[in-house]
Amino acid sequence: MRIKKLSSNIVLKKLEDEIRFDDKDFPVLSSKTPFELLIATILSQNTSDKNTAKSLKKLRERIGITPEKILRADLKVLKSAIRSSGLYNVKATVIKKLAKIVIEKYGGRLEQIFEKPLEEARSELMSLPGVGPKTADVMLLFAGGKPTFPIDTHVSRVSRRLGIVDEKDDYEEARVKLMKFFPPKYYLKAHLLLIEHGRRTCKAKNPLCRNCVLLKYCSFGQLLSKKL
Ligand code: SF4
Repeated sequence: MRIKKLSSNIVLKKLEDEIRFDDKDFPVLSSKTPFELLIATILSQNTSDKNTAKSLKKLRERIGITPEKILRADLKVLKSAIRSSGLYNVKATVIKKLAKIVIEKYGGRLEQIFEKPLEEARSELMSLPGVGPKTADVMLLFAGGKPTFPIDTHVSRVSRRLGIVDEKDDYEEARVKLMKFFPPKYYLKAHLLLIEHGRRTCKAKNPLCRNCVLLKYCSFGQLLSKKL
């Protein structure tokens, strides 16, 4: 099979035709404030969406997700509420620190960070405890509506296999390439579609290339299909 040229339109159209999102697929999207989103993203680190959703639910019920409530909460109660997200000792300490900083430095409202230019806002977010480039990009895109492209493990794997990003690219290089490949107004949609495609079809082990709507455009998939 000859490899056809891939474009952002093709990726968006093919994946959009195939994928129907369910609210349960992205528990962090249930966040109502930037602070909630920040906490949800911290809880989602190194764990599944199911465990993230469970922790968020318990945290909402037992303490509430505002900087004031979290700062007042007993550390043991906080740890127990977020237990199912894993690494809960570290995450509870980080969440407490974040609540304190958000109150002291931002008057309880993280929204003001999004008024700054993208890269300035990004550096400021990355100076917060527990916040790396991916978490900062999630905050900027989802809560701030800023044009950036968060890269999680699924986005990274799928975009490499499709050749949008090179194997050797680090996070920043991959982010720049994805931002050039997709038009800014589709960053959010493209990010979510690539994640879902990675979960359902372009799995880490045994990708389902023969059933993939992008096989015609994917040299990795075609090579793998031949070997099987
Ligand atoms: S053809 Fe295979 S490797 Fe390529 S995007 Fe589809 S599932 Fe992933």
